[in-house]
Amino acid sequence: GGLIRYDSVGGGSGRIGRIPAGIGGRRLRVVVTGGAGFVGSHLVDKLIGRGNDVIVIDNFFTGRKENLVHLFGNPRFELIRHDVVEPILLEVDQIYHLACPASPTNVMGTLNMLGLAKRIGARFLLTSTSEVYGDPLEHPQKETYWGNVNPIGERSCYDEGKRTAETLTMDYHRGAGVEVRIARIFNTYGPRMCLDDGRVVSNFVAQAIRKQPLTVYGDGKQTRSFQYVSDLVNGLAALMDGEHVGPFNLGNPGEFTMLELAQVVKETIDSSATIEYRANTADDPHMRKPDISKAKELLNWEPKVPLREGLPLMVSDFRNRILNEDEGKGM
Ligand code: NAD
Ligand code: UDP
Ligand code: UDP
Repeated sequence: GGLIRYDSVGGGSGRIGRIPAGIGGRRLRVVVTGGAGFVGSHLVDKLIGRGNDVIVIDNFFTGRKENLVHLFGNPRFELIRHDVVEPILLEVDQIYHLACPASPTNVMGTLNMLGLAKRIGARFLLTSTSEVYGDPLEHPQKETYWGNVNPIGERSCYDEGKRTAETLTMDYHRGAGVEVRIARIFNTYGPRMCLDDGRVVSNFVAQAIRKQPLTVYGDGKQTRSFQYVSDLVNGLAALMDGEHVGPFNLGNPGEFTMLELAQVVKETIDSSATIEYRANTADDPHMRKPDISKAKELLNWEPKVPLREGLPLMVSDFRNRILNEDEGKGM
């Protein structure tokens, strides 16, 4: 590839001051698989905002055109309806691979995107997950921890799919010299999150808006660390544009029990909301909290938005979508 020209672009990215606008005098071309989804659409906004050409590959399995409709008509933006399980030919500089069909097809999609990266010499970033740590026996989790995953459990399809995707990514790096990056993403929330995929933040926020009880699974003492989506997107770009392969934990170290999260949702949306206990799912990790010292040191990245500031930022988006849904049902 040609020389990367680093242009300084003001604003938006916080500590990450230098942003690659292009290579050898032309604009950087970036693919985002899964770009119509929650995280992907925010990432696309950032890349378009800094002047890149962006191609989204998405089959709308869980993503929505509504997440990108504000970019339709922008000559630097292109949307391709395509399943990454099928091969595809493109010419780009960077591939952010976010598309995550229910595994095991996850593995096929990752293989194709790595094959694409190899053929065209593009840099490839895998969005892996904190789930690779399973029900962790080390707390907080460092990138050096190998994890505690039940290979035959109910959630192992996702966990093992991502673990295999990490393996493939490193094999293409070592074996074929592909430039790769691996992010291990911890629980992330924000506007455009799926309303109905059963994640705890989307469930609680939607329940509070609909005046339904907040469903706490198990005793509610299990913990998670919740990251606001703009922090994640800044971390993904810093990782892609930096010199380190990873893996890097990208998450907010603020740790909350599900009961504490319910309390924050009550304070933010409806103080009269009630709690309803439900049986927990099998193999639910008891605790999760990222150690982010590696990303702080090598990527100069850390999250900026605490839960109490981030939650209010998703409420109006959720209210609008729930209202539209109700209208759609003729209510
Ligand atoms: P999402 O479901 O909103 O986005 C995934 C996108 O991929 C959707 O637009 C979907 O339509 C698309 N997609 C799925 N299968 C596809 C296929 N076969 N071909 C093309 N497109 C396909 O999910 P998200 O929360 O935005 O997650 C993005 C990535 O980040 C995923 O890889 C996920 O595993 C990872 N991640 C997310 C979180 C989180 O808390 N949101 C945590 C850890 C990891
Ligand atoms: N692939 C793709 N686009 C490309 C190059 C490869 O979708 O531009 C797919 C290809 O169809 C294959 C996978 O990526 O299924 C892995 O490709 P690779 O060349 O590494 O493996 P091979 O084809 O040699 O088995
Ligand atoms: N959870 C809950 N109520 C819900 C949905 C989830 O108490 O309505 C719990 C779930 O049991 C888990 C935690 O919230 O302990 C996080 O679940 P989520 O699916 O959001 O993320 P993950 O388990 O993948 O980290």
